[in-house]
Amino acid sequence: MSENLNVFEIAQQQIKDACEKLKVKPAVYEILKQPMRVMEVAIPVKMDDGSVKVFSGYRSQHNLALGPAKGGLRFHPTITLDEAKALSMWMTFKSAVVGLPYGGGKGGVKCNPKELSEGEKERLSRGFIQAIAPIIGPEKDIPAPDVYTNAQVMAWMMDEYSKLRGYNTFGVITGKPLIVGGSIGRNEATARGCCFVIREAAAQLGINIKGARVVVQGFGNAGSIAARIMHDMGAKVVAVNDSRTGIYNHNGVDPYEVLEHKNKTGSVGGFPGTTEISNDELLALECDVLIPAAMENQITEENVDNVRAKIVGEAANGPTTPEADKVLYSKNILVLPDILASSGGVTVSYFEWVQNLQNFYWTEEEVNSRLEQKMVDAFNNVHRISKEYSVDMRSAAYMAGIKHLADAMEIRGWLG
Ligand code: GLU
Repeated sequence: MSENLNVFEIAQQQIKDACEKLKVKPAVYEILKQPMRVMEVAIPVKMDDGSVKVFSGYRSQHNLALGPAKGGLRFHPTITLDEAKALSMWMTFKSAVVGLPYGGGKGGVKCNPKELSEGEKERLSRGFIQAIAPIIGPEKDIPAPDVYTNAQVMAWMMDEYSKLRGYNTFGVITGKPLIVGGSIGRNEATARGCCFVIREAAAQLGINIKGARVVVQGFGNAGSIAARIMHDMGAKVVAVNDSRTGIYNHNGVDPYEVLEHKNKTGSVGGFPGTTEISNDELLALECDVLIPAAMENQITEENVDNVRAKIVGEAANGPTTPEADKVLYSKNILVLPDILASSGGVTVSYFEWVQNLQNFYWTEEEVNSRLEQKMVDAFNNVHRISKEYSVDMRSAAYMAGIKHLADAMEIRGWLG
């Protein structure tokens, strides 16, 4: 029988396992097993041809014990309410693992942004914010970029919310362009945070990053920047792919040049000096570090036996299924879970929000060194728990998060 790939149920199972290992009060799981609030909206958008198309949008706020909800908004053709709920649950843990004063939020709009004009995208972004305005705000829920959304989309959204309120509200959205309250370093933060954690893990395993063979699945914001940072650290990026195709060169590629090629041609495919590989072949390459930086459910029961990496550093959300996780653990492959390895983005989002609230902006050096500190501390804490309880890094990261959340909920009187 093939395994259950419903991401909402996967997230519930991960939380349940960690609650059981920590033997917390039953109320902890009863509260955390679903979001505290969800909103489903229909957004009418005037299309360029004069017709009106109605899009479905979602926002899920998982847990608010530690602070306002926080997390991205994606524009994707396959997003569902269940997916938004699961992703908001993962955000709660992401924030808790790095010790941010936030709960998890996530949402998005079901659409294919590649088929929308800039004008249609802007009207959709504004329409979505009008629809969810009652439940968001700098002290309630702070959205950010996610799959197929970017700083421009965040600028439109912040602008729309500010117009609704009647004054500039930079702190309602993070991942904005610098000129309207964005933070230096936010764009690179998910990838940079992931690379810091990979560096720490490699040191633990005695793998030298210089010359390490790296494979990156996905060449969007997280993947393309992670490839460049690993390259800058001296690693050899031997394969990358995007939603269309993949490329491989045993001696490594220059990811800066690959990005230029992708920007020109629309895909990494056909990059000079490489052979074309499928997604399955890419995941099966022998390497030191595999960085899944695309979508959920990529390493599954079906293909996990082929994975030959020493470290899997999850820059994407939910790329490994629970069955695959067990196999990787038994094969001694070190998985750096999404809620730890991809928490750099929300960490610098937090820095951006703090800068917005204070109207006082930091240097790149300040942002990056604070990010490094947070990632290294979180890695060490999760690694310590994994040793203490003899569990994999994912369970350890959930345990770190649960402990934090349970303490907050207890002292607030939510646990009876
Ligand atoms: N969408 C990103 C994530 O999944 C960033 C969220 C944020 O910055 O709030 O972590």
